[in-house]
Amino acid sequence: MTTKFTSRRAPIYADIPDKKWNSWRWQLSHRLNTLEEIEKVLKLTDSEREALSTQGLFRVDITPYFISLIDPDNPNDPIRQQVIPTAAEMVPFTAMMEDSLAEDKHSPVPGLVHRYPDRALMLVTTQCATYCRYCTRSRIVGDPSATFSSDEFEMQIEYLKQTPQVRDVLLSGGDPLVLAPKILEKILKALREIPHIEIIRLGSRVPVFLPMRITDELTEMLQKYHPLWVNIHVNHPNEISAELDEATDKLAKAGIPLGNQSVLMAGVNDCPHIQRDLVQKLTRIKVRPYYLYQCDLVEGAGHFRTPVAKGIEIIEALRGHTSGYAVPQFIVDAPGGGGKIPLQPNYMLSSSDHKIILRNYEGYVTTYEEPSTYQAHDAKTCAYCQNKRPEFGQTGITGLLDGDQMFIKPEGFDLLHDRGGIQHRLKDDAKWQPLGIGSGDSEDNS
Ligand SMILES: *Cc1c(COP(=O)(O)O)cnc(C)c1O
Repeated sequence: MTTKFTSRRAPIYADIPDKKWNSWRWQLSHRLNTLEEIEKVLKLTDSEREALSTQGLFRVDITPYFISLIDPDNPNDPIRQQVIPTAAEMVPFTAMMEDSLAEDKHSPVPGLVHRYPDRALMLVTTQCATYCRYCTRSRIVGDPSATFSSDEFEMQIEYLKQTPQVRDVLLSGGDPLVLAPKILEKILKALREIPHIEIIRLGSRVPVFLPMRITDELTEMLQKYHPLWVNIHVNHPNEISAELDEATDKLAKAGIPLGNQSVLMAGVNDCPHIQRDLVQKLTRIKVRPYYLYQCDLVEGAGHFRTPVAKGIEIIEALRGHTSGYAVPQFIVDAPGGGGKIPLQPNYMLSSSDHKIILRNYEGYVTTYEEPSTYQAHDAKTCAYCQNKRPEFGQTGITGLLDGDQMFIKPEGFDLLHDRGGIQHRLKDDAKWQPLGIGSGDSEDNS
């Protein structure tokens, strides 16, 4: 650890003994969820008061640790906006959807989303340590009565056993690290007993909301189930504290590679300079920025949306300007269930049959001369090509490059473009006569 990050405690917690403050159980049982409690820490705006007094909004719950990172005098504090609701949440917007990623449609059994050929997402709980206002799964998350039953868990495991193409399972929710360690271990153990599951990933914001939960006991349990990867979720440099640094240090020492997924949000982190500071601080705490997501079209999150171009601008400001390790991929998760689509600035300006024209981050324009002789890869003698794994579903663009497939057509394409078809079909009909080609006989007889 080169530089010290800071530790903060809101004044109302000044007298709490360290032993309690550093206990994850104390933090969880002292979460703030009412206007009265939150008001003791922050001077609330009218808009926040209105939202906190409204029934039926997405669940509010904030750990004392996390609320302490907020500057109480700044109504636009970037952490505050992530966890304190405002009246803006009640404003519907065009294109808003309940399940914008169509996860329910991709669920062969409840709580298991199988969207991609070789990996599946397992929703193992609906609970989190703190709730994000822009939650993409607010349709199911937060509801204490909507937990996944052990029957559903058995069905998920059964599906995975019978689906050998799944080699990577992501545990998410909710937050898998709020589960009782015994239950989490039961899940990890069941997955490890399936031979074709090569890697397990956890998506968790617990290190950020409740870093004291990352105990030696927990990491000792987790490392029994390697290879295990963890993605955390940090959106702003202010979330990177001494406690988070310690938590990621423990995870890293347990041999767990760490990534970060963040969401691009208006007023929170829609600035290349904030993003540069964020990704550089993440690499200092041994976390590699993985994805930066365009905000999903989820109810209550309209005020967080930015133009997609903002993400391109941010990647433009990072690539080349800082460590490649620090540059995440900018992703639009396609509404309707199309999955993750990466976007980046265009670096290829033009091309001919022997040259391509590229530009770098500085605007330097260069040419790369293509080889004049290239011995093409020979699939017939390549053992890998010969033993291609059959993919689940369609192989997409790769299938066009690599297989016999010539095109991909949207549904109904043939029917729509079969302009002759209607005439052919009519011709089959006995009453049909081509215009202007009627027989002369019939005219003579009239
Ligand atoms: C994001 C996601 C994954 C994992 O995607 P990667 O690009 O491999 O990180 C898997 N399944 C679902 C449903 C997802 O949303």
